Amino acid sequence: MKLPEMKHPQYEVQLLSYPNPIKYRPFTVREEMILRMAVEAKDLDSTVNALKQVVENCLVSEIDVDNMAIVDMETLFLHLRARSIGETGSQFFKCKNEVTTTEGQKKECGMLLEVPIKYLEVPVINNNAERNIKFSDDMGVTMKFPSYKVAKELINLEQEEAEVTLVALCIDKIFSSEEVFNADDCTLEELVEFVLKLHTDKYEKMKEFCFNAPKNQLTVQKKCARCEYEHSFTLEGIQDFFG
Ligand SMILES: [Zn+2]
Repeated sequence: MKLPEMKHPQYEVQLLSYPNPIKYRPFTVREEMILRMAVEAKDLDSTVNALKQVVENCLVSEIDVDNMAIVDMETLFLHLRARSIGETGSQFFKCKNEVTTTEGQKKECGMLLEVPIKYLEVPVINNNAERNIKFSDDMGVTMKFPSYKVAKELINLEQEEAEVTLVALCIDKIFSSEEVFNADDCTLEELVEFVLKLHTDKYEKMKEFCFNAPKNQLTVQKKCARCEYEHSFTLEGIQDFFG
C-alpha cells in the first residue's frame, strides 16, 4: 500500500566556502535518529559517517559532501536544527564555583544553569582568513578549510607529521605564472613533498590558516542565580550544540 508522504519545504543557507546559497530540506525523524547516533558515537569515524548521512539526505543542492569543510557542515547542522526542531533551544551546565556553606565548609555550588541558543544566530569566528598565500610575485597557493575527511587522515599520526599532513591536505590549488595545479589531481605524497620544500615562514602562514580555521562559536555570559558567579560559556562543535 502506498501511504501518502509529506512534502518537504526548502530553505537556503549561505555557507563560507560556496559562492551561492545552498538549498536543503529539514530533517525528518529518520535523520534525527541518525544525528543522535552521531552525537553519542565514541569514535570520530562513526560520528563523521552519521553526519555525512544526514547531510546527504537533507541537501537539495549538489555538493561534494566528502570534502565539505567542517565549518560549513556545522553551519548547515545549526540551520537544519533550527528549521527541523525549532530556532531556539538550551544547553544546561552545572555551576562548579566553590562556595562556603553556613557551617563553613567548601563545596561546589551545583546550581543548574540554562544557556539559551538561537541556532540561526550562532556566529562564525575567524571568517575572514586570507585563502591566497603568495610565496613570490608569481607563485603561491590557495588554501581550503579542513574537512572531516582531512581530520580522519590525521588520527594516528605523530604531531609533526599530522601538522604537515594537515597543511598539505588543506591546499586547494598551487599556482605559478604559467600554470594552476589542482590539489585534487595530486597524491598526498606529492603535496607533502611540496610542503616540505617550502620556506619555514610560508609554511607557518599555511599552518596558521589551518589551525585558525573558521568555526561556529557561541559565547554566553551567565550569572549564577544561587552564588552570583559570572560564568562565560563557550559552545563550539557538533557535540556542544547537540550533545
Ligand atoms: Zn553558582
